Amino acid sequence: MIITRDDILEVLKKIATKIEENREYITDLDSATGDGDHWANMNMGFKKIVDEIDNLKVLEIPELIKKVGMLLMSTIGGSSGVLYGTAFIRASQVIAGKSELDKNDISRMMEAGLEGIMTRGKAKPGDKTMIDTLFPASNAFKAAIESDLNLHEAANVSKEAGYNGMLSTKDMSATKGRAFYQANKGLGHIDPGAVTLYYMIEVFSDYIVNK
Ligand code: ADP
Ligand code: MG
Repeated sequence: MIITRDDILEVLKKIATKIEENREYITDLDSATGDGDHWANMNMGFKKIVDEIDNLKVLEIPELIKKVGMLLMSTIGGSSGVLYGTAFIRASQVIAGKSELDKNDISRMMEAGLEGIMTRGKAKPGDKTMIDTLFPASNAFKAAIESDLNLHEAANVSKEAGYNGMLSTKDMSATKGRAFYQANKGLGHIDPGAVTLYYMIEVFSDYIVNK
């Protein structure tokens, strides 16, 4: 199975809807662990992507993904704008010249996005951030394709690993980001960025599975 530009546009629209629908949940999580703006930041960013769909749909896949990263970076004020922006831009760099994507491309994009976030934010797994979703999800995806699972299966395995990673942030104390400055370091609350990153993996995986 191959991923086309139309697939990517559909996934981006579905991510925007998923974020839009979870206003209260994400706002509550960021109010408990940060300053309460993570939902508003992400919603603004993905609304902008949807507004720009007509301009995005004429671009080749790498340029499209890069543009998404640049739009997120310029639209979102918080740290998540820089981090998600960097992730999409770095992911676009490992698929230069491609007009369709396969499972190997997806794996390399996840890895590059993860590396971008880690380099930019200087956080690592266990620090109670979005990394705690993406790190296990990316590793699981890679391991799945290395054992010859297909895209559909790898997406499912990756989604499950990302879900568990997201949940694991509940019992972590933050060492980076605003949650670090909370009296309890966010302990007992899932990290909001780990949830929005999971939404992206979930939406992608469900799209692939239903395609
Ligand atoms: P801000 O923290 O500037 O208010 P947001 O509320 O939009 O920005 O984003 C908060 C999320 O960003 C956190 O839940 C966390 O997942 C993620 N985050 C914050 N700092 C880092 C970092 N250094 N590395 C990775 N992710 C981070
Ligand atoms: Mg915030």
